[in-house]
Amino acid sequence: MTVQRGLDTAPGTTGVVPAFCPACGAAFSAPFLDLGAVPVFCNALFPTAQEAREAPLGEVRLAFCQECGLVANVAFFPDLVAYSPAYENSLHFSPLFRRYADSLITDLSTRYDLTGKKIVEIGAGKGDFLRLLCARTSAQGLGFDPSYAPVPGVPSAEVGEGRDGRQTSVRFLREFYSPLHAKGADLIVCRHVLEHLPAPFAFLQSVRAAIADRHDTRLYFEVPNLRFTLAGGGIWDVIYEHCLYFAAEALACLFEKAGFRVLDLAPAFGGQYLGVHAAPLPGGEQAGVVDGDRQDTAARVGVADLSELTGLVHAFAEAHRVAITESATQLDVALAAGPVAVWGAGSKGVMFLNLLPRCREVTCAVDLNPGKQEKFVPGTAHRVIAPETLSSLSPESLPATILVMNPLYEEEICAHIAGLGLRVSVRSV
Ligand SMILES: [Zn+2]
Repeated sequence: MTVQRGLDTAPGTTGVVPAFCPACGAAFSAPFLDLGAVPVFCNALFPTAQEAREAPLGEVRLAFCQECGLVANVAFFPDLVAYSPAYENSLHFSPLFRRYADSLITDLSTRYDLTGKKIVEIGAGKGDFLRLLCARTSAQGLGFDPSYAPVPGVPSAEVGEGRDGRQTSVRFLREFYSPLHAKGADLIVCRHVLEHLPAPFAFLQSVRAAIADRHDTRLYFEVPNLRFTLAGGGIWDVIYEHCLYFAAEALACLFEKAGFRVLDLAPAFGGQYLGVHAAPLPGGEQAGVVDGDRQDTAARVGVADLSELTGLVHAFAEAHRVAITESATQLDVALAAGPVAVWGAGSKGVMFLNLLPRCREVTCAVDLNPGKQEKFVPGTAHRVIAPETLSSLSPESLPATILVMNPLYEEEICAHIAGLGLRVSVRSV
């Protein structure tokens, strides 16, 4: 992912998400959810307890725009978020995600003739998607991301052969986005970037300005789907790194206001994402929708009004409060029976440990991933251990209860514990 330095703190903002909605300009309602201070990065564990305790924290206070449906963390400070090659968010290790990337590439190459064309990817991550897209379409790719790290032995400029024998080239730049890069692009791809930007309008305007009078340029942007989080009760999906949460209406509004026409906007990846295809409006470098156009936009994305979304927002705030209270009660009961460990040091485990009042009484976190073991949880500085290390704990810290962060793994964890010959009560949170 990429944050465009300079536009994060766009003129007219103070470096935090402004009090006015960056998608439509309306005033935000009072925050509906206040998580207090949480770690800035959920998936970064620390080599020492001291560093973990000193990990940057940021406040999360979510507010809702009743005009377009955007949800924003109005307490977000972009300066706390500095991306580097250590930031790892690649999902390309997952077969399910690879299948999704493959179907998206098929969709893009069916919609657009990309042979020999120039594709620019803003926020190319480690470059996996752009490499596949260029290889499949015989296109020329330019990807950039400050967290791009060259793969040892693989040059950052790669020349290959596409499916039809044509030469393809993919080049990666480890730097922030600059409008210069979008110039002359036939397709601009930008996935999972907008939700990190407190000034997405200024960012999209700069993309529109760079396209200038190339009216055949097409855009494909993708973000997490707010409705999926709200309707699925994704209470652990709210993380500091995301300062914006988009419903389809807000995404459409933002693009049209920045001088684009929305060609298609639909849920993707089982509803978890929203994908938007857009084209520049003629002469629209500075175009903006007037108020009345919002209804057209809403009609085009298939939602007449936001009352259903407003209901989901308020139900989510209540669901969040209930879930935290229930988890706290569960922890109280477990602590009454003896030492407690949590199993799972991913984002849910990290948020669980940071949000519960008595989390400091938890002994440690257990995780199967060797990359996480013997590291420390940001904020609370809990040590992460391998399951096998449980046996070597002193009797007074040997857990009587293990709280499982992902219920899907409870059976597997019970078998693992039994295999170690430990008598521990296992409960899912
Ligand atoms: Zn709005």
